[in-house]
Amino acid sequence: MENNKENNSNSNSPLGEGGGIDANGYYGEFGGAYIPEILHGTVERLNAAYQAIKGDASFKAEYYDLLKHYVGRPSPLYFAKRLSEKYNTKIYLKREDLNHTGAHKINNALGQILLAKRMGKSRIIAETGAGQHGVATATACALMGLECTVFMGKIDVERQFLNVQKMRMLGAKVEPVTSGSSTLKDATNEAIRYWCSNPDSFYIIGSTVGPHPYPDMVGYFQSVISEEIKDQLQEQIGRDYPDYLMACVGGGSNAMGTYYHFLSDERVKIISAEAGGLGINSGETAATISIGSKGIIHGFRTLLMQDTDGQIIEPYSISAGLDYPGIGPAHAFYSKIGRTKVHPINDDEALEAAFELTKLEGIIPAIESAHALALLKKEKGTFKPDDIVVLTVSGRGDKDMDTYVKFFTPHP
Ligand SMILES: *Cc1c(COP(=O)(O)O)cnc(C)c1O
Repeated sequence: MENNKENNSNSNSPLGEGGGIDANGYYGEFGGAYIPEILHGTVERLNAAYQAIKGDASFKAEYYDLLKHYVGRPSPLYFAKRLSEKYNTKIYLKREDLNHTGAHKINNALGQILLAKRMGKSRIIAETGAGQHGVATATACALMGLECTVFMGKIDVERQFLNVQKMRMLGAKVEPVTSGSSTLKDATNEAIRYWCSNPDSFYIIGSTVGPHPYPDMVGYFQSVISEEIKDQLQEQIGRDYPDYLMACVGGGSNAMGTYYHFLSDERVKIISAEAGGLGINSGETAATISIGSKGIIHGFRTLLMQDTDGQIIEPYSISAGLDYPGIGPAHAFYSKIGRTKVHPINDDEALEAAFELTKLEGIIPAIESAHALALLKKEKGTFKPDDIVVLTVSGRGDKDMDTYVKFFTPHP
């Protein structure tokens, strides 16, 4: 969130300001705003309001006050000693799992709710897959006393019932969606449909996806992560950049937040994990960058898992937070221009990494975050003993215990 003017040295880089976005909301050929005419004015006003708060000191003060006292930021940057020994390098974990509500999603939900309040909106809508973004949004709405409706595929309502109960306890209305495959993409379609007939409501999107300005705006609200990493590295190692940054990518928000202030710094190598599922050629995968092709979904142009008729192929991953059929446009672009390296991580590799972190460091990560942790094994040969690796643990594993216990053999 720091003023870009402070980064003069980077201002000539194509990825300097805003991570390479152009005036129309494109990252290279990806992004844009493909929306029905009826939403045009709504999205224009949203963009104007967002651009206005970006440099506004009173907004930042209010937002940072909440991040500090309500979310519990800054989240620790923790030197993982035993994990570092295992991989023979220096690994620091950015602990988004310690945030209120258990993941990074609250950073964005609070930023957008403050924007909604400034725009005088009183009705909030959101989509959710696993329910994590729904819980974060319902939390922000309870905090601000705003009305909240969350669209969620009926299958996900059944699979993630604890989160449905949390949202309801927080006062939100959960709308089960039965169209299509009754999962996240259908919930998003339904939220967009509702938004078309109720353009006065404020739509809080949970990741760096959707029509411009959402990918940029969500990335901006998550950029507090890399802002803190810079300060914390400076304080802990006397240098404000790492050699490697790593994160998992579903839609791309925790990754964007992690990379934001380092994108134009060529000293920093960036590696992302996407969900391989049972393997990228198995037909049961969510590895959009590995196997996707160009298309338009949910108001933006990106890489998509689709068949030859352009129909969306239902993604699969053990991790509900990573099984989106598209990917944030910025990440499609960074991968294409070689700024990021992307590894698909299969279910079994993520599980192994989750158990490894738990055993070595006493931290049970979210299964999404475990995909990022599995990058350590993939890249083991490339680390030098003195390299600084910063890896974001996007969330905690409480919600994944049902999954973990299936693979867990306790001591007798
Ligand atoms: C939602 C979620 C993700 C994936 O979303 P991004 O927008 O790609 O960050 C990753 N980790 C956790 C813990 C999540 O809840």
